[in-house]
Amino acid sequence: MEALKKAILNEGMGLGNDIVKVDMFLNHRIDTSLLFKMGEAWAEEFKADKPDLVLTVEASGIAMAVAAAHFLGDIPVVFAKKSATVVQNETTWTAPVYSFTHKTQNTIRVEKKYLPAGSRVLIIDDFLADGQAARGMMLLCAQAGAEVVGVGIAVEKGFQPGGQMLRDSGVKLKSLAVIERIENGHIQLKD
Ligand code: 5GP
Repeated sequence: MEALKKAILNEGMGLGNDIVKVDMFLNHRIDTSLLFKMGEAWAEEFKADKPDLVLTVEASGIAMAVAAAHFLGDIPVVFAKKSATVVQNETTWTAPVYSFTHKTQNTIRVEKKYLPAGSRVLIIDDFLADGQAARGMMLLCAQAGAEVVGVGIAVEKGFQPGGQMLRDSGVKLKSLAVIERIENGHIQLKD
């Protein structure tokens, strides 16, 4: 998606060879015009899949999930909560997620009542790196008996295995921008 690619190149910052900072327009300060264009792009891609809800993880994914959900006909957004430890009870589904940026093991959880069996779920997240967050959300859906109709990502880091893992699993994946490599802070995007 051209507007996102432009923002990454103009305002994004590569840190070392594997981290991208986009917090000036995506996940600290938010460019709302860009945000809603992203929402429209995901909605265009996934509207035929008729999702009933959008699932994301707190906190960075929430704004993007809301933008997509709005253009998909104001469907609900459910965001999984993060806990440092396993907080399991009979009302929640949980899944382990290793955080690429924080190098910590977290648990994500969602109330069972917000992820009904049989619901059609679109997963949205800001980044796709090793695919841990997406895999964790897919695990929540599998436990709930909900169907993942697709995964929408803002920035896929193509040099990490998450994208390939999702494509190999047969899930429909739409990344709005794909980074081919980061070299000493310089970001190179895939066409
Ligand atoms: P994964 O679970 O695919 O390894 O990583 C995805 C999660 O890690 C995203 O939800 C995002 O919050 C975080 N993440 C991964 N790589 C980056 C990065 O380069 N920059 C930022 N800002 N977050 C990242």
